[in-house]
Amino acid sequence: MQAKQIESNRITLQKGMAREVFELVKDRNRTYFVETYGCQMNVRDSETIAGLLQKMGYSPSESKDGANVILFNTCCVRDHAEKRLLANIGALKERKEEDPGLIIGICGCMMQQQDVAKKVMRRFPFVNFVFGTNVLWRLPELMFSALNGERLILTEEEGFAICESLPALRSNPFSAFVNITFGCDNFCSYCIVPYVRGRERSRALSEVVAEVRALAEQGITEVTLLGQNVNSYGKGMGVDFADLLHAVNGVDGIRRIRYMSSHPKDLTPRLMAAIAENDKVCHHMHLPVQSGSTTILERMNRRYTREGYLHLVEDLRGMVPDIELTTDVIVGFPGETDRDFQDTLSLMDQVGYAAAFTFKYSPRKGTLAAGAEDQIPEAVKKERLKKLNELQGRKTAENNLKYLGHRGEVLVEGFDRRGETILFGKLGVFKMVYFPGDEKLLGTYQTVTVTECARNSLLGRME
Ligand code: SAM
Ligand code: SF4
Repeated sequence: MQAKQIESNRITLQKGMAREVFELVKDRNRTYFVETYGCQMNVRDSETIAGLLQKMGYSPSESKDGANVILFNTCCVRDHAEKRLLANIGALKERKEEDPGLIIGICGCMMQQQDVAKKVMRRFPFVNFVFGTNVLWRLPELMFSALNGERLILTEEEGFAICESLPALRSNPFSAFVNITFGCDNFCSYCIVPYVRGRERSRALSEVVAEVRALAEQGITEVTLLGQNVNSYGKGMGVDFADLLHAVNGVDGIRRIRYMSSHPKDLTPRLMAAIAENDKVCHHMHLPVQSGSTTILERMNRRYTREGYLHLVEDLRGMVPDIELTTDVIVGFPGETDRDFQDTLSLMDQVGYAAAFTFKYSPRKGTLAAGAEDQIPEAVKKERLKKLNELQGRKTAENNLKYLGHRGEVLVEGFDRRGETILFGKLGVFKMVYFPGDEKLLGTYQTVTVTECARNSLLGRME
């Protein structure tokens, strides 16, 4: 029944099961809608889900209303995504009563937790199936079962195999996400990812390059290489992330290479040199610091100190002077004192990030930090987050001011047509610029001069 063939840690999807579903739904104008929560990895997984559903004869629906298949691709990194998801599933009860043929599936990281998957199936008897992020390739089997009235839970990991042959419906025609690693081995003490996405596995360099080449042939010019920690790409395979950057840089048709996220502990001089040497690699790095206090970093199991991080930033800026940095920060980690928090503020001030994603610590069941006794009260977390965001707001505005009069190339990603058509696109350093222009320029590279700095973006004009 299963559509697969496993060779070592690589699975090849066989087409049988998708075709069986296709035979069941063909000529019936069936549509699907995928609601995605969380990070870029989930966005990329949803593209695969869409690609698989297309192969099964379904076409995309603009919204949940009227869709024949609704899939929720979940995230469990922080608590609030979970609450929002449960409310959204609950809201479909009446729809399902009116239309018993509606197929509802839940997937993603949250469903990789057996107890949560079972809870969802118990609490929402109208849900057809749940499946974990590591078994995406089994969607045709799940759809086939649902069409035959069965309810299924699939969360097993198949030895963490990588499935290489899955179709994908790319959400952006000019810029694409490319997975390079799956899972994570770092076990930061607050983080659920290693438990739900499994051990770190890297795709073969040749597979990544082949995918990038195929994307370039379809007209994609910008790729973002994705992994929880791209810097440790290739561990145990005799290649590293620097090798991968060199290889992808050599692909004709690709003009920009982005990547995320970078773990500071694996940012080597060799990698910095690869970023500096390869002309297509963008001068932007997302380098999550999480905290500016060495004591907290140690408790977070981040394996670098405040001073070590600051040295890395100095070295990186020494080699790539115009590089822009963005980061992730957690406030209210267990045991975080006012002094520790001040250290975070001072680090943020010193580094001067272009932007930061800031979070209140959210205890995740099963992680080391969730069991700590010195949890921080919610009110303190809230207050610290507010202060941090105020500081970063000022730093972002300050950083934007540097670009006044700057001339650079953007990839035109979209447009807004309220009155005059306003195009938008990012500079290599990941700054968004808005400027008047013609929507026919979508997908092209244009040179713009920045004429005004708004708080979170730049305004400009085309040459
Ligand atoms: N692998 C990436 C890295 O290490 O940079 C990040 C992955 S995680 C999905 C994205 C961000 O969520 C983390 O960098 C961290 O700031 C935040 N995060 C993870 N677990 C969290 C938790 N329990 N509470 C609050 N924020 C958390
Ligand atoms: Fe989570 Fe740390 Fe792995 Fe990032 S590096 S996914 S924060 S465990």
